[in-house]
Amino acid sequence: MHDTVLDQILQTLAELKTSQQTLSLKVDKLQIENHRQQSHPLLHSQPKDIHQKAHQYHSGGHSDSDGDTVVSISPSFDADHLSEHLGSQSVFVDKPILTTYPDQPGAQPAHLKWGASTPKARGPIIVSRHPSSIGHRNAIGAYAGPYSIYRALAVAMGDVSYDHKPNFTNTQPPITIKQQPQWSDPTKIVAMDPFGHLPTEYFKNELAAGEDIRPTISITRAHMVVPEIANEVRDGTLRIDGNVIVNKDVEINVHKAAIDPVWYLPGVAERLKVDEEFLRRSLFEVTGGMYPELMTRPDIKVFLPPIGGLTVYIFGDHEKLSDPNTRLTVRVHDECNGSDVFGSDICTCRPYLIYGMREAIREAQDGGVGLLVYFRKEGRALGEVTKYLVYNARKRGGDTAETYFMRTENIAGVKDMRFQALMPDVFHWLGITKIDRFMSMSNMKHDALVDAGIKILERCPIPDELIPKDSKVEMDAKIAAGYFTTGHIPRQEELCQTVGRGWESF
Ligand SMILES: [Zn+2]
Repeated sequence: MHDTVLDQILQTLAELKTSQQTLSLKVDKLQIENHRQQSHPLLHSQPKDIHQKAHQYHSGGHSDSDGDTVVSISPSFDADHLSEHLGSQSVFVDKPILTTYPDQPGAQPAHLKWGASTPKARGPIIVSRHPSSIGHRNAIGAYAGPYSIYRALAVAMGDVSYDHKPNFTNTQPPITIKQQPQWSDPTKIVAMDPFGHLPTEYFKNELAAGEDIRPTISITRAHMVVPEIANEVRDGTLRIDGNVIVNKDVEINVHKAAIDPVWYLPGVAERLKVDEEFLRRSLFEVTGGMYPELMTRPDIKVFLPPIGGLTVYIFGDHEKLSDPNTRLTVRVHDECNGSDVFGSDICTCRPYLIYGMREAIREAQDGGVGLLVYFRKEGRALGEVTKYLVYNARKRGGDTAETYFMRTENIAGVKDMRFQALMPDVFHWLGITKIDRFMSMSNMKHDALVDAGIKILERCPIPDELIPKDSKVEMDAKIAAGYFTTGHIPRQEELCQTVGRGWESF
């Protein structure tokens, strides 16, 4: 090749380089201009920033050695700055903030140390994306679990202002749940906020400053009227004592607590024996990418998932719940709307729930305490739609105990998704270390509690006379699969003889 040709090529390359640099400068200038025009730093998620942030958070970001966020609420964060941009046409800032990144200007998560021993040391859980709080968010998700969606509808329809802040006057618990050592053990409670009923008491200043902090637990008292319990009184099995069963109308005195899930992701991952990063990825992907911050904010460790929570019903003196010298009867129940509320006879759910309630009341009347824990995990947490598909497959395919679990597995790919490993947290919250009578045959529930260090002295299967005829299929299948029983364990050849009602009889 001639030297002149080579020179020409080199010169062209040099020119290209210069024009590329010029172009690059122009782009940078445009971006800076763009930054200036935009109002809030959290809005800046230009591609260049994303890569920078991605690089930064891999090198640690704002976390201490435990991975806890250590930045305190900064009074200098300018909430008005954002509020200015709440236009009259839209209740939201002009451009949606699709996700956030650690170290992003304006992102200063409020101090949160999971497992700290006081609400102040632990810090408030702030999950709101309201302009007054978005900069301080230290949790992913939304308050109120699945009901956040209804709030979104109400805001979209203009029925409630996005700015509405709850008036918490007189909403405080009527009883004190005594703080237990378990509250400050970051391995014992990972799926709820042990201080979730107290933010209005401990974070008054933050609330007054406009921070959107909401309780994730509320506690109240009530009278219950349950027809089966009224029958038990009529039969003389239970008595009106004026304390637990209050009067001749068989009103039952109860304290109850509603609890929304609050997950400390490192703790949940450890409990489920999975990798936290992989758990985050799975939560992100399988929920349709609902929570990008599960991926972009590894510095935020708390997640409020969009799922139902649980309700605790306490019969008798709640202060004795944590006293190992007081007898305690417990039923842990997973929701089954078809049976619990509507009396479907294909399973034993309502009969077992009522049996547990009766024994809990009886224990309370005898000076002990009774406890029902009701989880919103419909159809073994597979959901009611899957459940009815399984029912159809069972009834069309020949409903025998032998094929019972196979029908569920064929459809859902798994026979149970309740994962009882997170269930014991509420027992730790109540300070329970021992259960005298456990009204359940489930090995999974039993083992989860025992693994959590809670003693179970007696397991109580549902009595035969309470088992509806059509639910014999489920009962035999469960017992054969290892559920606890004091009675006969059906052999394989017997399982195909336990047959449910066919559709001909409808
Ligand atoms: Zn059921």
